[in-house]
Amino acid sequence: MVEPTKVLLSEAEMPKDWYNVRSDLPFSMPPMLHPGKGAPVEEDDLVPIFPRALVEQELTLERWVAIPEEIREIYALWRPTPLVRAQRLEKALGTPARIYYKWEGVSPPGSHKANTSVAQAFYNKLEGVKRLATETGAGQWGSALAFACQLFDLACKVYMVRVSYDQKPYRRILMETWGATCVPSPSRETEAGRKVLEADPETSGSLGIAISEAVEEAVKREDTKYSLGSVLNHVMLHQTVIGLEAKAQLASIGAYPDVLIGCVGGGSNFAGLFLPFIPDKLNGAAPELRVVCTEPAACPTLTRGPYAYDFGDTACTTPLLKMFTLGHAFVPPPLHAGGLRYHGMAPIICALLDQGLIEARAYSQLPVFAAGLQFARTEGTVPAPEPMHAIRAVIDEALRCREAGKAETIVFSLSGHGHFDLSAYAAYLSGSLEEPAQEEDAVRQALACLPMVP
Ligand SMILES: *Cc1c(COP(=O)(O)O)cnc(C)c1O
Repeated sequence: MVEPTKVLLSEAEMPKDWYNVRSDLPFSMPPMLHPGKGAPVEEDDLVPIFPRALVEQELTLERWVAIPEEIREIYALWRPTPLVRAQRLEKALGTPARIYYKWEGVSPPGSHKANTSVAQAFYNKLEGVKRLATETGAGQWGSALAFACQLFDLACKVYMVRVSYDQKPYRRILMETWGATCVPSPSRETEAGRKVLEADPETSGSLGIAISEAVEEAVKREDTKYSLGSVLNHVMLHQTVIGLEAKAQLASIGAYPDVLIGCVGGGSNFAGLFLPFIPDKLNGAAPELRVVCTEPAACPTLTRGPYAYDFGDTACTTPLLKMFTLGHAFVPPPLHAGGLRYHGMAPIICALLDQGLIEARAYSQLPVFAAGLQFARTEGTVPAPEPMHAIRAVIDEALRCREAGKAETIVFSLSGHGHFDLSAYAAYLSGSLEEPAQEEDAVRQALACLPMVP
């Protein structure tokens, strides 16, 4: 039998529920803490910033959460997404490994982020919210939310990290095309932004600062709620459509992964892929399955940060999350993988790493781009700089399989396309792409600012 290059599901086979891994964990996750009270956060603490349905999803321990029909209808614009065998890359590497990628770049905004933006816009609309405020790093989340708000007739305000705003004007235009308003962060429009600008007018900005601005706006305006593109439990939940589909696709060809690989910024694309496989690891069906998180060496949250309670934002306004963190005061150096410039990480991913159920690796920018180029030149698809980190690990694992003569199955999350990142490609191709400085001192100083939580 000739093996298929693309493994496809019909629309009818799209998942009808999201999967909540928290129901299956043999340990309980450290709770989110209220920054003032120091006690576990309750539903009512979160309703000023999120609609109640999302707050419930944030805290629920139910195994399955039904995906409303209205959301499934919009998902159907691009879902189920293909699972593709990277045969040309395998051949170029001379590896006996089978490499598959779950291709999320087919959504209208070009990444996995639409899986949660559509869900979040839906629940906000349902509860009468008129306007959403958010932050964006490389611009993928801002454009995904702008897209979703447009479909549900909500206004959308996006604080875009300064360095990306300057590097990626086309993402801003995309947001404006879908009717959103986009300003560079730090901005003069919020107290949090003005404070940062006074201290450092030349700052390149960070996701943490942009989050503070968007949260401030949601707290101050009656008609506005906040929306977050990663990190939180409800975002991981929405993204599990990726892994549920991938599992069904692999099963349909009688395959199962030996290794799952993805890049992690806040963790949502990769959690979306791997969480539905975690029960197999826990119940003994696939104890050998490896799950490898990849991150930039310049923002080494999982590989270098301590596991501690920290704020999700720079202005210390969000609840405290137990996570691997470089400190909320850490401003990562400018980096082409803007979506990976976050000081913390999804608490779900951190808990699994802490328990030794998953692994993490950091890669520097040049080997990452070399891997991205090799992928583009063998498979054709042009990856965003974020998933190039995953591709680096995929190639390394495939070469390990070649050395060991092992025909392992490697599955990775190709979270988005790089069509808006061509200036980074241009820098790499012209030889002018540089390694960002390793900011040992910046990390040490930021860690000194971690909140004291007994
Ligand atoms: C935002 C983004 C990421 C990083 O965010 P996660 O929540 O870790 O997935 C990775 N890849 C792409 C294409 C993105 O847009």
